[in-house]
Amino acid sequence: MSESPASRRDELASRLRDVRRDVDEAAARAGRGGDEVRLIVVTKTWPVGDVRLLSSLGVTEVGENRHQECRTKVEALAGLPVRWHFIGQVQSNKAAAIAAYADSVHSVDSVRVARRLDAGARQHQREVECFVQVSLDPDEETRARRGGLTSDDLLGVAEAVEEAAGLRLRGVMGVPPRHGDAQAAYRQLRVLSERLQHRFSHAAAISAGMSGDFADAIVEGATHVRVGSAVLGQRPALR
Ligand SMILES: *Cc1c(COP(=O)(O)O)cnc(C)c1O
Repeated sequence: MSESPASRRDELASRLRDVRRDVDEAAARAGRGGDEVRLIVVTKTWPVGDVRLLSSLGVTEVGENRHQECRTKVEALAGLPVRWHFIGQVQSNKAAAIAAYADSVHSVDSVRVARRLDAGARQHQREVECFVQVSLDPDEETRARRGGLTSDDLLGVAEAVEEAAGLRLRGVMGVPPRHGDAQAAYRQLRVLSERLQHRFSHAAAISAGMSGDFADAIVEGATHVRVGSAVLGQRPALR
């Protein structure tokens, strides 16, 4: 990686332009405006310099999936006008610490995590917006490994978030199965979103869609897409 920052900036600018165009096109196809979809750029594994470059290119929403890495970046980039989205599995013993810096947590998948996020948020006099993560994986074993709750538990966890003074319920989040039909999974997520809105009408956000499938997710109603490699390039190592 001996690239000069100038060429890295050009590279990010060009990929970002393409992704924004694709977001707008998918939104238009779905009869929605591109401004109804928020682009979160996922910077996991990439250096803070890339986050600075992205910010200079107008990116305001940044996603990370690991507590240590995210906290380090938040501290190194204090004052940069970006909002931090925590999108990885939340270990409940890290939840309070995550609530100290994250603006948004997309991966709330238990009452216990909700309560601990709330404790951390209140301790730091913050409000953290939350998405309840539902599993779109077909079987129990995969679900346990990749996180997310079953549709049976959705309303109970949403209720715990809704009741928490330090948290604000925004909607649902889902990750499609590794192999399989992403669009079908996103259709299922939309049904779960409708179920949630039936009870909490303000919780209408849908966090769905990654580099390979964000257009499908937008067609199925995604309001927040989480895009990493399509903007930053292939990650250095699989994680
Ligand atoms: C890494 C990650 C993404 C982004 O994945 P890309 O394929 O690089 O766009 C989105 N959501 C979650 C939960 C992730 O961990």
